[in-house]
This record gives sequence, structure tokens and C-alpha cells, in this order.
Amino acid sequence: MELKQQAKQLAAENIIVDAHLDLLKDLHYQRSQGQNKVFETDYLEDFKRGGVNVVVSSIFVDDEYVPDMALRVALDQVSCLYQELEESPGIIALCKNFKDIKMAIEQEKVAILLSFEGVEPLLNDLHLLQIFYELGVRLIGMTWSRQNYAADGSRFLVEKRGREGGITEFGAKILDFAANKGMLIDLSHINDTGFWDILNLYQGPLIASHSNSRKLNDIPRNLSDDMIKAIAKTGGVIGINAISIVAAPSDDNIGLHSLVDHIEHVAQLVGPEHVGFGFDLCKKISAIYDSPLAHKMERKPFDILDDYSDIHDLLEIMIARGFSDEDIKKICGANFLRVFEKVFRR
Ligand SMILES: [Zn+2]
Repeated sequence: MELKQQAKQLAAENIIVDAHLDLLKDLHYQRSQGQNKVFETDYLEDFKRGGVNVVVSSIFVDDEYVPDMALRVALDQVSCLYQELEESPGIIALCKNFKDIKMAIEQEKVAILLSFEGVEPLLNDLHLLQIFYELGVRLIGMTWSRQNYAADGSRFLVEKRGREGGITEFGAKILDFAANKGMLIDLSHINDTGFWDILNLYQGPLIASHSNSRKLNDIPRNLSDDMIKAIAKTGGVIGINAISIVAAPSDDNIGLHSLVDHIEHVAQLVGPEHVGFGFDLCKKISAIYDSPLAHKMERKPFDILDDYSDIHDLLEIMIARGFSDEDIKKICGANFLRVFEKVFRR
């Protein structure tokens, strides 16, 4: 069979999980502009064409709303998703456990999981975590690339500051809550001190939903080989990030093959059971690439995948590089599903 055809078939047959998309931020933005059925209108076709079945949507609060408005913005974002669920009931499903995910896939709905990208909405109030749990949040990234009451994030830019911190007492309480309830901890964006603190403080599979290898692109936002090995040892998964500045040290000769380089590196280091996709596509969420942070960066970031249908081309490169159908099935989604099944117990 021709490679292209084979890749397309694998994309259609396999469950594809994207472990990171800032969907809620865009739902909130577009609904604030008076749009409705945003997912149905703007996202569904792309998900279907690419064959993406499951997406982890972050709750992310911009700097300008932190700390005072973080809770309100987060609740607004969740509210927007709930409004979309009402408007498009046959199309998307908010999943709170593994059974929900399986059912959504069977019913050919897009399965959405909710994640904190930074626990700023909690401020320093653990009671609020119970509320967000009830609302459906099942993954916790302790930080975005900044500091909060729980931990300290890895930075994109070097700013003048004192020493970085690790997991605080509040952060440790969040980890205990997560372990107790069956919530998954996401290590993307945490700084190195916090990374190793979490490894010590939390038992169970850990993921880095949207991070790449420092060996191939040495930035604090990516993972060292020791970190990749540590995640694999928990049974966890690393989701490969498709943002240009995270994927490669320069824009020369950057492309889908750059992502396959990361996939290959992780697979060779710890096995194909510990790598997946966390594309972090931002093009639709134009405000991200137009943020004050993006303007301060030397390189203007962009998405290496134009949209989800580029997954077909990505798989084509993987087949050409010798990944077996079984490996591709794992990397497309089975690896993340394995972790979700293990952690989301209720
Ligand atoms: Zn992120």
C-alpha cells in the first residue's frame, strides 16, 4: 500500500488523543464576542478530518487576570464549555472517568477532558479544588510558565529574579488530593525543582502533556533524558508539542519531521509506550501568538501542524522511519488511554 494511503488508514483506525489544546480559552473568547456553537462551527470538521477522538482542554488564565480574576475567568471558561455541551449534545462529551471516554468514542463524539494549566484559579484555597473536580477537572498542571501558590514554572524568557522554588506546602496538598481522587498530574511547564519534587511526592503515572526533548531543543520548557526516563518509570507518557519554538532551536529546516525526531528520541530512550501527542495548536487561538510574551520573543512562534489533518503526513513520516503499526497505535492514543484508564478510577 502506498505510504500516504497507509497513514490515512492508520489515522482513521486508531484512537487519536491530543493531550493539550487551549480550547476553553477560545470558547470563552468567541462566546464573549457573541458566537455560539463554537466547537461545532469552528473545530468539529478539523477533528473529524484529522481523526482526533480525545482532547485534553486546558483551563488557562492569562497573566493580566492573575491573581484576582483567575477564579472568575476559569469558571467562565468552564461555563462556556457547559453551554457548548448543551448546544451540541451529539457532538462533544465532557468525560470525568474512563467509562465516559470509552462511551464518547463509541458514540463518535469528541471526548473532552479538563485540565488546569496552572492552579491559579485555586489561589491558595484547597476547597476550590473539590469544586473544580465536581465540574470535571481531572488533570492538574501545577503551573504555567510562572509562579503561583503551588509551585514555580519554567520560563520562556530570562527575567531578573531570585532563586526558583519547588513544590510548596499548598502544592503538596494538591498532590495528595489528586492521588486520593484519581486525578492525573501533568508536568509540562513546571520548573526542574518542582519536577523532581513531584516525582518524590506523588505515586502513580505522571505525564508531560505537551513537552519535547532538551537533547533536541535545549530550553527549560523541555525535558532532559533523566526526566523522560523518570516519567517512563512511573508508566507515564510524554506528549510531543508542535509549537515551533518548543520543537526546534531554529526555524531553519523545521517541519513535521522535527516532531518525529522528538517522538523517535523518546521512543528510543524509553520505548514507544511512553510517547504521544500534545500538539498545543495555537493558531486558532490567535490571542496566544499575539500576547505580550510572544512579542518579546526573538522567534515568532507558530504551529508546525497547520491543522489536525497534518497528522496524516506526520504518520507517513513515522512509517517511513520504521515505526510499526502497533507503535503508531500506541503513540496516536493508546498510551495516553492506558494512563487515563489507570488514573481516572471513578
Ligand atoms: Zn502550555
